[in-house]
Amino acid sequence: MNLILLGPPGAGKGTQAKRVAEAFKLLHLSSGDILRAERENKTELGRQAQAYMDRGDLVPDDLIVTMMQERMSRPEAQAGVVLDGFPRTEAQAVRLDERLAEKNTQVDVVVCLELDDALVEDRLTGRVYCPQCGHTYHTAHSPPKAAGACDACGQGLQRRPDDEVEVVRRRLRTYHEQTRPLTAYYRDHGVLRTVDGSAEAGVVTRAIQEVCQPA
Ligand code: AMP
Repeated sequence: MNLILLGPPGAGKGTQAKRVAEAFKLLHLSSGDILRAERENKTELGRQAQAYMDRGDLVPDDLIVTMMQERMSRPEAQAGVVLDGFPRTEAQAVRLDERLAEKNTQVDVVVCLELDDALVEDRLTGRVYCPQCGHTYHTAHSPPKAAGACDACGQGLQRRPDDEVEVVRRRLRTYHEQTRPLTAYYRDHGVLRTVDGSAEAGVVTRAIQEVCQPA
């Protein structure tokens, strides 16, 4: 099974994709996480992606498609994948379909998490994370026990540079202009399901699992 999670930044795609991948025994591939790792490792791809990411713009399609195709051709992806953050443009979606068709497979379900822009802004501008173990917190709604330190490992918490309010607004604009139109593309292909992404994470997980069951 190949599953895609769509939705604005801050919709909880990362958290949900991990849970769904575990439940259905699929490989979780987050294009944003892969890009951040490339930057961390100072690769050529990381260097090329950097300026786009810091501005809140999309990285060019060719770079992203090549990167994701490479990950999807690894043995651990053979049972299927949960794609989180990819595709983000119609050109990426078309190339993904072509690639899957070559392997006699397809996109089976696309779940779009819906939530409004004000909630996205609130979630992202308060988000802090642990660079050591990946735990995320919200400074107002789910703060760590000791301000600025991870509950699990004590490491100092950080904010993503692209969670600054101006960058968040630009990411949202990019989402509405380039990514949100993919819902029409996948609706036409008969694979789109929508889920309320504003609910508590456990409720969203159950809703996603429900819409992913074969009819
Ligand atoms: P994310 O963690 O999914 O919010 O992604 C962080 C940033 O990585 C985005 O704001 C983009 O700059 C870049 N990015 C991630 N996935 C893609 C994609 N599929 N196409 C273009 N840029 C992407």
